[in-house]
Amino acid sequence: MALIDIGVNLAHDSFDRDRLDVIARARACGVEQMILTGADGESTRRAIALAEAHPARLFATAGVHPHHAAQLDDGLAAELERLAAHPLVVAVGECGLDYYRDFCPRDVQRRAFARQLELAARIGKPVFLHQRDAHADFAAIVREHRRALMGGVAHCFTGSRAELEEDLGLGLAIGITGWICDERRGAHLLALVRDIPAERLMIETDAPYLLPRDLERKPASRRNEPAYLAHIARFVARARGVDFETVAQTTTATARAFFRLPPAPPDAALVCESADTERYLT
Ligand SMILES: [Zn+2]
Repeated sequence: MALIDIGVNLAHDSFDRDRLDVIARARACGVEQMILTGADGESTRRAIALAEAHPARLFATAGVHPHHAAQLDDGLAAELERLAAHPLVVAVGECGLDYYRDFCPRDVQRRAFARQLELAARIGKPVFLHQRDAHADFAAIVREHRRALMGGVAHCFTGSRAELEEDLGLGLAIGITGWICDERRGAHLLALVRDIPAERLMIETDAPYLLPRDLERKPASRRNEPAYLAHIARFVARARGVDFETVAQTTTATARAFFRLPPAPPDAALVCESADTERYLT
């Protein structure tokens, strides 16, 4: 079993105390490689430093989240261009639109989004996309740039069937998080996830956010971590009516091709023996 978590905010300060344990636990639970999300200048720099410290295991994205769109001035744009060209940066983002929280004026969000799509096209890397309550504008901007793009993934997809169909029609891949395990707000995704072609479907935890709601034993901290990716994979497998191995194999193959990842370096077989690790596999 080898899983790839395509969205981990490992630079987040909630991991400052035990980041190496978090990486070790994820690997013991089958997560072979992770893509660390850059959401502003600082988290992008930290994600790249972590990727450099864990060759062929950790990779980074370089981008500015719509919440931080106002920070994307000419200075940060120039720095982002340099950071995005780093060989361990496998995508530009996360970038997109968030009209749910509306932390930035919408026109500022749209400009920052378009600017990052142009950067991705210029350097020939795919985009890692965030969208919430903004699908019409999001799709319009992606449509404008799609021909120049090397591909995009709608990360943490939580939308409707119509939105899924529009995203697939735009050529996007889809990232599914533990949102699907939430019986209150994610139940609709159970039917939708069946209709995502395997070569477009990837999985992610979005840790430390979005702890799967249905875990039998939740950590007291309520912090999500990449070791729970196996739980999400198992949930997706049940929803698609296939076995866990199939989901592991296809989502890993899709992520590896999409982000052009090298194979993980070989190491000693990792088994989940300790009770501590078992907790993450429930
Ligand atoms: Zn996001």
